[in-house]
Amino acid sequence: MCGIVGFYGHREVVHDLVLGLTALQHRGQDSAGIVTFNTIFHVRKALGLVKEVFREEHLRRLKGNIGIGHVRYTTQGTNELLNVQPFAVNYPFGLAMVHNGNVINFKELRKTLYEEHHRLLETSNDLELLLYTLATELETKDLKNLTIDDIFTSVAATQQKVRGGYATITVIANRGFLVFTDPQGIRPLVMGIRKTPEGIMYGFASESTCFDYLGYETVGDLEPGQTIFIDNQMNVHKHTTCQQGKAFCIFEYIYFAREDSVIHNRLVASERVKMGKMLAKNIRQKGLEPDIIIDVPASAYFFASALAEELNIPYRRGLSKNNHIGRSFISPTQKEREHVVRNKLNPIKAIIQGKKVAVVDDSIVRGTTSKHLVKLLRRAGAEKVYFISAAPPIKNPCIYGIDMAISTELIASQHNEDEVARFIGADALVYQSLHDLQTRYQDSALCDACFSGHYPTGEATEFLQHIEQERMASKK
Ligand code: SF4
Repeated sequence: MCGIVGFYGHREVVHDLVLGLTALQHRGQDSAGIVTFNTIFHVRKALGLVKEVFREEHLRRLKGNIGIGHVRYTTQGTNELLNVQPFAVNYPFGLAMVHNGNVINFKELRKTLYEEHHRLLETSNDLELLLYTLATELETKDLKNLTIDDIFTSVAATQQKVRGGYATITVIANRGFLVFTDPQGIRPLVMGIRKTPEGIMYGFASESTCFDYLGYETVGDLEPGQTIFIDNQMNVHKHTTCQQGKAFCIFEYIYFAREDSVIHNRLVASERVKMGKMLAKNIRQKGLEPDIIIDVPASAYFFASALAEELNIPYRRGLSKNNHIGRSFISPTQKEREHVVRNKLNPIKAIIQGKKVAVVDDSIVRGTTSKHLVKLLRRAGAEKVYFISAAPPIKNPCIYGIDMAISTELIASQHNEDEVARFIGADALVYQSLHDLQTRYQDSALCDACFSGHYPTGEATEFLQHIEQERMASKK
């Protein structure tokens, strides 16, 4: 999972880029980067958080009224400077690109780019595949007289060739600003606009929350396979260049996106309230009668409080969170994840002691974090611990840019509900029902492959084997 932003208009963009990336920091904490353009590309990228990467001296030299930014959580490739986005190439025109997502037919693309177009890839980041495929398509056009139609046909060919889930923003030097998504719109990208005394500013971001901070008005989400090109005269050209159905990631609503973001006209917080209420049925069916409902801060708050409302049971904040420690889900190793949980969460004894506690988390991935939480609550004196997962059992790895785990590490892919409950040490375990979730979103055509195993791009065996091999190699 990564976060991307891009701005173009009548003002310098560097401050919007840095503030936008700060608002998206929850989407990636490994590295950050910005490219702006005036007469040349200006680049600053490094490993670390946004506030660590960009200092005053960098902001002074990131000149230009057009630019893109990226925060990275490593999904493909290693976490080293070489792989930090944005990437830029000098031909044709000069292209600088960022993406959020994952390319799944990377072997085939790598081969084609080398054997047919003689391009050697320099990194293990799949952004290069998108960038070079687009560059190769543009090169076939009459570059002196490049038309809007040429740009759209180049993007359409890129979307047809590059399989996976991705949202991208590209600066085409001296030509304009190009934005497109994969043919099924798996990853999020939203457009915003701001009127300034100098003229219009256009913005694109992974989440609308960026625009709230920066005073942009949200225009709307990019549709599957949609391309937007803003030319040098600030004319906006939109075209659906390659659509193959629709499969937006349901996990954005469950965990990834910030609660104050609106995606495809749905406020994330409201979706979590609805999902929280849906859990009540499963708790009643199991005959559980908790004294209190608590959440695992911070992503489970809306699930837990809505569930409590539905069951008419008090909601309490039973785990206190240290906000200065990163997200456990996106910490790269199990050891780091456990360390993060241990240091991040502290049970409030006076609230927990002697109670039958239902603790709500957004999901269960490997089960080790949940196990640790149950242990913490028992130590704090809970009489019973019921573990409630707002997501259905995660049985399949994500191949579209979310590094959850490989199949053998996903506890629900190996064990049934009772076994998972035993493993995490809970008195009972309740999952969200996949059937209820699918019924709730039946009109929305969402991707739910990590629960159902139905990958919207089709056959995924080869890519699943690849991530399995990569994971095994990294453990050696
Ligand atoms: S597999 Fe899961 S996490 Fe990945 S895009 Fe689909 S719903 Fe989202």
